[in-house]
Amino acid sequence: MNDILFLKPVVKERIWGGKRLNTEYGYQTPYEHTGECWAISAHPNGDCMITSGRFAGKTLSQVYQSNRELFNDLNSDRFPLLTKILDAHDDLSVQVHPSDTYALKHFNDLGKNECWYILDADADAAIIYGHRASSKKVFKKMVDEDQWDELLIKKYVKKGDFIFVPAGTVHAIGKGLLILETQQSSDTTFRLYDYHRKDDQGNERALHIKESIDVATIPYQEVIIETKVHDSKPHRFTELIHTEYFDVEKWEIRGVLHKPSDHYLLMSVIEGQGFINQNPIKKGDHFIVTANVPQIELSGDLEIIVSK
Ligand code: ZN
Repeated sequence: MNDILFLKPVVKERIWGGKRLNTEYGYQTPYEHTGECWAISAHPNGDCMITSGRFAGKTLSQVYQSNRELFNDLNSDRFPLLTKILDAHDDLSVQVHPSDTYALKHFNDLGKNECWYILDADADAAIIYGHRASSKKVFKKMVDEDQWDELLIKKYVKKGDFIFVPAGTVHAIGKGLLILETQQSSDTTFRLYDYHRKDDQGNERALHIKESIDVATIPYQEVIIETKVHDSKPHRFTELIHTEYFDVEKWEIRGVLHKPSDHYLLMSVIEGQGFINQNPIKKGDHFIVTANVPQIELSGDLEIIVSK
């Protein structure tokens, strides 16, 4: 068997979402503001359907539960990763995610370490990444006094940047960003600040200030990551990050690549088109090369984010 699992993305309506997931990626969506595409997910809040092959019609979580040999006999009770594309037409709330220990204890969910590959960015696009409070007491005081500009650290980003957001990092995706996110399979978010935005009924979205302060890393510790580029002409491989939660790489394929494989890999095509083991692939396709595929053949002009 040579199972490659092609997946149907699950789209999510978000007040900050836009139209690019439809117009640029071709995902079908009934929503006016589509914020997220859960592209490779076995999470109960958005479990992707397999679209072809012997598992067609099953969800990723079903295949993960019944055919663990496809995933290197991983002993985690749930599929560990989730790949999303986010279209921030407007600012996302400032938020923080818990660690595994906190999330499993209170929510039976995994913690959420996440990382972002910036697919596209407006000229002035920025993220919130970290804060300036020296202690929980100072943090709480600045929150109570609405001193957000003083508290939050803003960072300008551009297309091609890569950012690691460990659990406990106060963060927000700013408007004008299109992001591919690789994260632990988790849906636990604590919202710290939502810019006092109001919905049609004049209500602000709920905040979770106590939980945010509980799980936030205070004082903030900047995490520096080093990416490594391996040129193997005509292709290029970039190691974006290696952590205990996920390894993420960018593969740029020009022509034909043959590569032995012994671990399942999540792949998201972010540019171009071509083939994987004779299956046509193009920008916006997401699939899992399972552990029973001994040899990968990629051909075409392709940029792919690969994770495991
Ligand atoms: Zn987040």
